[in-house]
Amino acid sequence: MPKDLRTFLRQVQEMLPDDYVRVEREVDPEFELTGVLRKLQDQNRFPAVLFENVKGTKLPVMGNLLGSRRRLALAFDSDDAGLTAEYVRRQERTLDPVMIDDAPVHDVVITGEDVNLNYIPNIVHCEGDAGPYISSGMCIAKDVETGVRNMGIYRIQIAGPRKLRYYPGEYSHMEHLRKKREERDEPLEVAIVIGHHPGVYMASQYRGPMGVDELAVAGGLLGEPLRMTKCKTIDVEVPADAEIVIEGHALPHVKELEGPFGEFTWYLGPAEMNPVIEVTAITHRRDAIYQDMFNAHPEHNITGLIGREAGLYRAVRNVVPALKALTLPFSGCCRHAVYISIKKLYDGVAKNCALAALAADPFLKLAIVVDEDIDVFDETQVMWAVATRVQADRDVFVIPDAYVCELDPSAYDVADRSKRGYLNAKWSIDATKPVGIPFQEKSDVPEAAWKHINLDDYIVTGPRRVIEELAARR
Ligand code: MN
Repeated sequence: MPKDLRTFLRQVQEMLPDDYVRVEREVDPEFELTGVLRKLQDQNRFPAVLFENVKGTKLPVMGNLLGSRRRLALAFDSDDAGLTAEYVRRQERTLDPVMIDDAPVHDVVITGEDVNLNYIPNIVHCEGDAGPYISSGMCIAKDVETGVRNMGIYRIQIAGPRKLRYYPGEYSHMEHLRKKREERDEPLEVAIVIGHHPGVYMASQYRGPMGVDELAVAGGLLGEPLRMTKCKTIDVEVPADAEIVIEGHALPHVKELEGPFGEFTWYLGPAEMNPVIEVTAITHRRDAIYQDMFNAHPEHNITGLIGREAGLYRAVRNVVPALKALTLPFSGCCRHAVYISIKKLYDGVAKNCALAALAADPFLKLAIVVDEDIDVFDETQVMWAVATRVQADRDVFVIPDAYVCELDPSAYDVADRSKRGYLNAKWSIDATKPVGIPFQEKSDVPEAAWKHINLDDYIVTGPRRVIEELAARR
């Protein structure tokens, strides 16, 4: 059985039964669906939620599937801490897709005048969003010169019965492909894939060079070649076991105001003049599940997290082989900050390590480097190292005017710092102990004296004795 959304949902139900819940009653796609997810978040709960009955559509909605690191780890047969290293191992052995003819995603094919985007759930997620958005669409397009595919997730606004607007960002591979076509006055054919195994979603977040086919990365991540099939109205191939595919043309020389939309920064990303897609087909599996992604909330951050961690892991390990672990913490939106632990063998290496990280990922603003005794997944420990191992005059450096990301609300324009732009200062904190000079030892009870203790042998339960009674016994 090829891996897909359904095989993963079964795996979740079996291995993490509390991670999968259902909503039977009808929900409004405007704020009520995300309202349920928000209420769960308020209780610190992040289960995958199947909304069986969504107003205005026949399709059920799977919400928040990628909203937990533990569930992603399950998709990679790993655990929280081992996930990034496992992802790196798998992404390094890519597997080319195999083509098939009778694809489940073509059970139902709607083309031409019959296409109406009202058919799919029109979900309005957050206050201030410019209407309904497809938040979980993996866009696939091909390079007109090389034929190499690219896959990435972009925010997609539903703007009419057959019209979409999307935000590729100025420097994405997808925008590069569109501009190449535009130079020839041609549209870019785009397929939007909704609903698949998390391995495919993670492949869309692969941080690698332009010439790498993210669908071959998906094969590596899944551990089996991805089954693909030809689209019905465009010359693009899509995963055959996806739930839903929308086919269309990104028009040359056409831009419209798109946005605002809640972003991974947890701020409302401003409106922009962005490309327009004319939809030519909707295809789906007979009993398709529409997968949604909760923008401006943890699922949004986690979806982009593992691919970025893996990219950084590789880049830093090339420079500092004694890399122990790294993570992009929630407090940094899983994008703007990284905590790196190393086995420090010589002085100065932590700064090289920070430079490697800051250079490798344009979204990254802050790199904090700690010793191997600090658990990077425990923010309290990281901040303890910052509090006790750092002198800011020597251990902090700042690189002004670097390119980061225009979605960071503090980013500025080169000509006018009060204006929005792409520039940011990058900075680093070296929170490692020196190697060449003595440093105080940590203070604690020796592990041999407490690790083995069974508290039931020591702590008395049962009726409480008053202080006077205890005194009388002495
Ligand atoms: Mn790419």
